[in-house]
Amino acid sequence: MNSILEVDVVVVGAGPAGCATATALAQHGRKVLVLERETFPRYHIGESLIPFTYPALERIGMIEKLKQSAFSRKYSVQFVSPSGRASQPFYFYTRYDKKTVAQTWQVLRSEFDQMLVENAREKGVEVREKTEVVELLQEGGKYVGVRARGSDGVDYEVRAAMTVDATGREAIAATRNAWRRGDPKLNKVAIWTYYEGAKRDPGIDEGGTTVAFIPNKGWFWYIPQHNNRVSVGVVADGKYLTRDGLKDPEAIFQREIPENKWIEDHLATGRVCDEYWLTGEYTFRSKYCADHGLVLVGDAFGFLDPVFSSGLMIALKSGVAAADSIHKALEAGDVSANRFISYSEMMRQSIENMRKLVYAFYDTNISFKTVTEGRPEIADDLTDCLSGDVNKDFSRLFAAFSEYTTVPEDLPYGTPRLSESSLVAG
Ligand SMILES: Cc1cc2nc3c(=O)[nH]c(=O)nc-3n(C[C@H](O)[C@H](O)[C@H](O)COP(=O)(O)OP(=O)(O)OC[C@H]3O[C@@H](n4cnc5c(N)ncnc54)[C@H](O)[C@@H]3O)c2cc1C
Repeated sequence: MNSILEVDVVVVGAGPAGCATATALAQHGRKVLVLERETFPRYHIGESLIPFTYPALERIGMIEKLKQSAFSRKYSVQFVSPSGRASQPFYFYTRYDKKTVAQTWQVLRSEFDQMLVENAREKGVEVREKTEVVELLQEGGKYVGVRARGSDGVDYEVRAAMTVDATGREAIAATRNAWRRGDPKLNKVAIWTYYEGAKRDPGIDEGGTTVAFIPNKGWFWYIPQHNNRVSVGVVADGKYLTRDGLKDPEAIFQREIPENKWIEDHLATGRVCDEYWLTGEYTFRSKYCADHGLVLVGDAFGFLDPVFSSGLMIALKSGVAAADSIHKALEAGDVSANRFISYSEMMRQSIENMRKLVYAFYDTNISFKTVTEGRPEIADDLTDCLSGDVNKDFSRLFAAFSEYTTVPEDLPYGTPRLSESSLVAG
């Protein structure tokens, strides 16, 4: 073990959640160090933004940069039946401000995440790449920083009043403390790749997201990116995808293409230009979102099935919200878990509202079209929730769902690990 560094806050992971936390803390004047195992630019999945990602991006100073970027502009989302019949695209500007939230982006994460890192550095954050956090340090019942391993293989300690776990689905705190809780109903498999030269719809529809159904409530995503690339993935139950003993990701992906005529038609002119990626088991939440001296943000807090592209919105929003709570905790000289009750309530409400939509999406007894038909107020609620305006009371919407399906109870996870004591920072 080598030297010891001291900062106000150490953030583990420089993905969107880590960068949002670090940038917002630097904007508060805090000394922040971010440690990231990879070197940017690095590949990552999760490429479609939803409208209400806007406030967090605005808060950390990213909007102008995104406006200057080459990323595809996303104005809408549409759903396509297996026969290839497309719904009328839902244009966000029919409900939201055209100059702000109603236009969002399809990003290439290698470029987007690098922009977030550079933005954090501009705001005064120190980001160390090629640096793995190998241990979260605890003393006297609270977290006091991390043990890091630099690119030279030498370990050193970073001491901080607050440690932030932004390690994504690796979720270092939840994994090492056995706080990880799965959601068996949402245990899907995704296989995806990238096409060059695939069909792009004209005009304003060029950058829209398409969700295209296949049998058994499986679906394709079709996300047109810049540089003539399209991200295409298929998501379904593992049993369905591997039927007849098929195991090879490419063979599985190619077998599903004819199951949706719109996808078949749009991919016909293109060619695969990347490898086939696969992931499974992907919905989980941490039992706790905070402990004394520790906060979890983004996927490290919880990961929800990506059908409604909520991941980046939740990652960025949780980062900014955690930063505000951390700043207040440091001002008060109290970094106990109790300081993160409102953070937990806000994030749990966001995730639970989205989760209820995801459950309904996969339930064969309910369709959003049937629930909203002739009920404009329910349609508006649904639009708000799908667009990421999630910190609202949606009891009217979920009461309408319950006419067709069982709406899941909120999970009891994601609270701070509370105790009577209130600890002093530093
Ligand atoms: C198939 C699929 C499709 C998706 N589609 C979408 C979509 O269309 N839209 C959307 O919004 N979201 C989507 N998501 C979700 C999205 O990818 C995530 O929600 C988002 O990346 C979360 O950001 P994060 O910062 O929490 O984590 P990450 O982006 O995963 O960042 C975590 C960082 O921590 C680093 N790290 C991990 N461990 C350590 C360590 N020990 N030491 C140092 N560094 C470490 C990693 O290298 C990484 O850079 C999708 C996810 C999947 C699986």
